[in-house]
Amino acid sequence: MLFKPTKQLSAAKYSRRPLHVTLLLIDLCFLAVHIFFLVYFKSKGIEEMFRLNILSVLIYVVMGAAAYKKPTHTTLYACITMIEVLIHAGAALVCVGWETGFAMFIVCCAPFPFFLEFKKTYVAYLFAAVIATEFIVIRIITYEYHNTVYNTISEQEASRLFLFNSCISFMIITIFSVVYKRAKQLDQLNMKAKNESLTMLAKIDPLSQLFNRRAMIDFLKKIEQDAKEGRGAYVLAMGDLDSFKHINDTYGHSAGDNVITTVSRMMTEEVPSEGYVCRWGGEELLFAVPYADVKKGTAIAERIRERLSQHSFVAGDGREYHVTVTFGVCGCDGSFSYERAVSIADKRLYYGKQHGKNRVVSEPVENENPENTETE
Ligand code: GH3
Ligand code: MG
Ligand code: MG
Repeated sequence: MLFKPTKQLSAAKYSRRPLHVTLLLIDLCFLAVHIFFLVYFKSKGIEEMFRLNILSVLIYVVMGAAAYKKPTHTTLYACITMIEVLIHAGAALVCVGWETGFAMFIVCCAPFPFFLEFKKTYVAYLFAAVIATEFIVIRIITYEYHNTVYNTISEQEASRLFLFNSCISFMIITIFSVVYKRAKQLDQLNMKAKNESLTMLAKIDPLSQLFNRRAMIDFLKKIEQDAKEGRGAYVLAMGDLDSFKHINDTYGHSAGDNVITTVSRMMTEEVPSEGYVCRWGGEELLFAVPYADVKKGTAIAERIRERLSQHSFVAGDGREYHVTVTFGVCGCDGSFSYERAVSIADKRLYYGKQHGKNRVVSEPVENENPENTETE
């Protein structure tokens, strides 16, 4: 597995509906309910409630348009909705009596302040206190003192209103619970995506965009384990840019950086997708390929060496320069550790440096210990 940007978990991808559409749908529900009440109260000749509902309809029309354009002000929209519901329910109770069930809307509002994000926490408690006070005061006025403005609503009519208001209240609670649940899921997904990109950042070398040594060691441990359990040998190759100090000294540090970036890209292109490429250190690059032998590893290293040697670099001042790389290759069937395999590859690389550079060494060299431990 080469470094490729991992599939980012995007919250937007998991959200079936954008926020502004959700807000608009909720707004339209409230609008529809108020249009119903508007007609209902007009038909009953309850002018105060008719006028109040005209105002509510206007509020939801304006707020719907605003929420669609600027869906980010959710707390403001929720507060306006809550205040509107509290005023409407209170007024309706005072006008037509407790038995009509408008009090359920007040109860519905009780948990909402705690779901909203106020700058000051006490605002939520203040809202909750106002809601509870409204409920109790209106109950005393309308029920204890039988003090309602209109007595034109029959018992049967009140019961029907009660049923209607119950349905709407359950609907409100259900809609907001679903919206809240989805918002929570989106938050969790956002968090997961952030964690994933942070984990990835911790594994990637910023210049070469290859895995860093720490990440590579984890991968090596994994392929070593696979090899030990007989699931297949692996091959690794250590590459070191030739006379790189000279490149830096002659063409500048950024020219050197450009070489590292270019050779890293070549390596990710040449190493098969089940393999890993890392920046082991300064100008040392290591690749490992599971389920592969020395022959395959040598062929990959040879292709990288060949491509780099033929590549023309151009320095900032226009001068052209060439860079080569030397590789040491080692195969391992799990009979010795990955540390040993890296050390053998390093020794072969050193041998290559001593014998003219720009070459791939995969044969055993002197002082390799233990000898002949690799799989060919
Ligand atoms: P050899 O062929 O024996 O490997 O010689 P060399 O000059 O490549 O080796 P040496 O160890 O003497 O120098 C390595 C140089 O690599 C020194 C260091 O400044 C340079 N280097 C290490 N990391 C970076 C980097 O990120 N960017 C640049 N531009 N240079 C780097
Ligand atoms: Mg070096
Ligand atoms: Mg070098």
